[in-house]
Amino acid sequence: MKFIDEYRDPARARALLGRIRQVARHDWTIMEICGGQTHSILRNGIDQLLPPNVRLVHGPGCPVCVTPLETIDRALCIAAMPETIFTSFGDMLRVPGSGKDLFMARSEGADVRIVFSPLEALQIARDNPEKEVVFLAVGFETTAPANAMAVHQAAREGLGNFSELVSQVMVPPAMRAILSSPDNRVRGFLAAGHVCAVMGYEEYEPVAEEFGVPVVPTGFEPVDLLDGILKTVELLETGKSGVVNAYGRVVSREGNPQARKVMQEVFEVADRPWRGIGVIPQSGLVLREAYARFDAEKRFDVGHIAPQESPLCKSGEVLQGHLKPSDCPAFGRECTPQNPLGATMVSSEGACAAYFRYHRNSV
Ligand code: SF4
Repeated sequence: MKFIDEYRDPARARALLGRIRQVARHDWTIMEICGGQTHSILRNGIDQLLPPNVRLVHGPGCPVCVTPLETIDRALCIAAMPETIFTSFGDMLRVPGSGKDLFMARSEGADVRIVFSPLEALQIARDNPEKEVVFLAVGFETTAPANAMAVHQAAREGLGNFSELVSQVMVPPAMRAILSSPDNRVRGFLAAGHVCAVMGYEEYEPVAEEFGVPVVPTGFEPVDLLDGILKTVELLETGKSGVVNAYGRVVSREGNPQARKVMQEVFEVADRPWRGIGVIPQSGLVLREAYARFDAEKRFDVGHIAPQESPLCKSGEVLQGHLKPSDCPAFGRECTPQNPLGATMVSSEGACAAYFRYHRNSV
């Protein structure tokens, strides 16, 4: 299949691996930002094929993993209200709140529905004017345009029974937080190709310049990932920083102007808590005042809910590249996909789930 098979070609992958082995003379730690990339790396054994002096650590780019516990508890609180239909992508239903998850809430009678797009939630609102329909709007810059579009459309139609519980976060502030940490060991980044498809890569240029690191927008297939790693190592070995695009078939410097426009129209930048990490300044998106009536947090007055995380869970350190999942004492013991303590073990993009699934240092 065009655009798939050639990026899974074993001969091309072997050639890229050979180049990486030739070029890499020093020790380098590179972070892939996105959980989808983490899974592809582990599924294809790329972490085990790289030379030992090129180490990959896994970044915070899993929307389910970084959605704060309080957002899940607020979702559970709203879903339990008899007049609501609560809608969400399927992944979020298994994420544990303080006491239960949305699947359990559904089994107890709450009207919780899986949707594939916020526009589907909008249609449910049109079809059920006597109900309050709430969409759990989480994610990075990849989901933000569609979530913004749903609110924009609801405003245009004057839909009074639709709202979003918003927990949108952005990649560049998280990169700055990681690079500013005194424990940081990351020397270069593979940026998430799908985020860059929306936002472009121009916003990574100041990060690369300020911290003197290479940032390489990279795709998700094995050849994409190896090409991204090679480009990062080449820059590191020659002492260069800056942005080099390894995903040119999808990513441009400017990204998608229409998507960025609707995001900017509906959302504004604000401080945001990241699960396990804490508040990262100016790292999130919230609804602008003009759209405040579509903000479920205000509409249902659930902003005061602030629960405690499991003290055993080290997902914040995993998400910042300080720990591998298998270094967490609870990994495979108290914490498994059947009984997850943290969102990184729940999500299909979570690093802990990937380590468990692909048997990396499993206990
Ligand atoms: S293995 Fe479980 S407890 Fe440990 S960091 Fe991952 S999600 Fe948290």
